[in-house]
Amino acid sequence: MPVLFLGHGNPMNALRANAWTQGWMAIGQQLPRPRAILSISAHWYLPATALTAIAMPPTIHDFGGFPRELYEVQYPAPGDPMLVERVRTLLGLTNVRTDIEWGLDHGTWSVLRHIFPAADVPVVQLSIDATQPPAFHYELGSRLQPLRDEGILLMGSGDVVHNLHTYTWGRQPAVVFDWALRFEATVRELVLQGNHQVLVDYTSLGRDAELSVPTPDHYLPLLYVLGASVSGEPVAVPVEGMDGGSISMLSVQFG
Ligand code: ZN
Repeated sequence: MPVLFLGHGNPMNALRANAWTQGWMAIGQQLPRPRAILSISAHWYLPATALTAIAMPPTIHDFGGFPRELYEVQYPAPGDPMLVERVRTLLGLTNVRTDIEWGLDHGTWSVLRHIFPAADVPVVQLSIDATQPPAFHYELGSRLQPLRDEGILLMGSGDVVHNLHTYTWGRQPAVVFDWALRFEATVRELVLQGNHQVLVDYTSLGRDAELSVPTPDHYLPLLYVLGASVSGEPVAVPVEGMDGGSISMLSVQFG
């Protein structure tokens, strides 16, 4: 099974038809059908490693100030208790929490709505432990690699450049910031070269990294995906572009 990083961008992409959502649809059409999906979303960022363990995870509208239509979106994919147990075993951590309150947040459903519109593939979310350094997240990704041979689609959903402070909400045409373009180009190049060490140590990339990754939540899902990739396998960038001047829509597919 391939492994995917998806730049999800603005939650309104859940409802839109644009080049990015068409790109996500195309990804869904070329993927083998997974048995289940394990999603690592930027929007489940808490001081713990946790798994959604509820049989029918609710669709969570974890944002404010958007049109009512967006709050009405439902993504009724079932959970997968067997996958939860399998992930707990693979992670080998003593303190993985099973959570029955969180469900699927918009980092997961805003893209899956386009990739698997029928919502008939079970989905489990894995939280991002905010207390851990980048290398920890890369390591967890590598521990999850065996899932790929078990028909599980591993998916990280974030944005490699995510600066809402400079994001030009609704104003067009947006001027794309030069630091955002430079950082995105650097990440893209390092991903294609397979240089994971620098991507894990992204804070060493200076001012462009500071501005592009002001908080780690939207960047870290990429490290799970890199960790789960296999050295030398095909890598592609099926979707790219910059939204609102400072949100990167870059997606990466391994395998
Ligand atoms: Zn987001």
